[in-house]
Amino acid sequence: MADNDTAPAGEFGTCCSELKEAMSGEDFDPLIYVGPDDVLYFAIGLVDIENEDEPGTMDHPVFFCPFCGKGLQTAESVADKAGADEDEDEEAQA
Ligand SMILES: [Zn+2]
Repeated sequence: MADNDTAPAGEFGTCCSELKEAMSGEDFDPLIYVGPDDVLYFAIGLVDIENEDEPGTMDHPVFFCPFCGKGLQTAESVADKAGADEDEDEEAQA
């Protein structure tokens, strides 16, 4: 854990430079990003939102790095993070 100054929010982007670049998106809008719930998402498409001029983004959690194939998240960890502020507590944790 000596070189974690290269890590963005969380541990994502440390597996390979491709993912890191894809997430940093200096010259483009990244379609892979860490959401407010600390889950890594990728945009799978645009969707029209009623009463909005700009289309919204459909996203989906990334479980494996699309570039190097490293496992980044599990359905369990994502559900854990994403469900943290929803009424979806299966087990009470102290
Ligand atoms: Zn990778």
